[in-house]
Amino acid sequence: MSITVTNVSKYYGRQKALNNVSFSLKTGEVVGFLGPNGAGKSTMMRILTGYFNPSEGRVEVCGIDPAVDSITFRRKIGYLPEHNPLYDDMYITEYLYFVAGIYQLRDVKKRVEDIIELTGLTPERDKKIAFLSKGYRQRVGLAQALLPDPEVLILDEPTSGLDPNQIDGIRDLILNLGQSKTVLLSTHIMQEVKAICERAIIINKGNIVADEPLSRLGESI
Ligand code: ADP
Ligand code: ADP
Repeated sequence: MSITVTNVSKYYGRQKALNNVSFSLKTGEVVGFLGPNGAGKSTMMRILTGYFNPSEGRVEVCGIDPAVDSITFRRKIGYLPEHNPLYDDMYITEYLYFVAGIYQLRDVKKRVEDIIELTGLTPERDKKIAFLSKGYRQRVGLAQALLPDPEVLILDEPTSGLDPNQIDGIRDLILNLGQSKTVLLSTHIMQEVKAICERAIIINKGNIVADEPLSRLGESI
């Protein structure tokens, strides 16, 4: 298993954002985490990436407890948060070298060049981040997440705020990445899950209400 979530609950004060959530992802699976705003998606993504501890329950990603922060874990998990802060004053390549430094990667030049090509950043590569469109900003976020060649990708609403063309580009990219990585993608858009994922976990008000292969999800959704 690449991701195992066992009986996880999370409280913010007295509010329960996740209620006894359990699911798992096998290596190589591409799974949508689907639910309306406020359902608990970002909270789950943040627990999986070690930004929060669960109030109750256990989580393992690539055999590691995310709460025990380590460079080994950071290299195995690529995370694209919903609101990804980027350094606007940096050039794309400068930023990616900076991130590679944080991950203490080797063979950095080749890695950065490969990732620029893989994420479709080549036409914009010499620009400052401040001058990029939202779609290209999101590609920089994906490039950042992919730099250490992680086993698992955790993507929080990766196409939110993009126009239809940009959405198609990002979806194609994720579809391609899903051929070699385990992907958990949070979204409130069913179309997104249909376009990219092989399975959907549906969450509402902190509860898992369905966990099905796409072929078994009703047409009504
Ligand atoms: P989603 O990502 O599905 O929109 P969230 O995980 O952001 O859902 O939120 C789940 C619930 O927890 C919501 O009711 C939200 O208002 C609440 N919540 C999220 N973050 C916090 C926080 N830092 N403090 C208090 N409540 C929060
Ligand atoms: P999301 O968590 O889905 O991205 P927002 O964009 O509304 O939701 O949240 C932005 C920030 O505000 C996040 O850090 C989130 O944890 C926090 N937040 C969300 N809901 C609440 C809340 N009810 N009380 C306090 N903080 C919240």
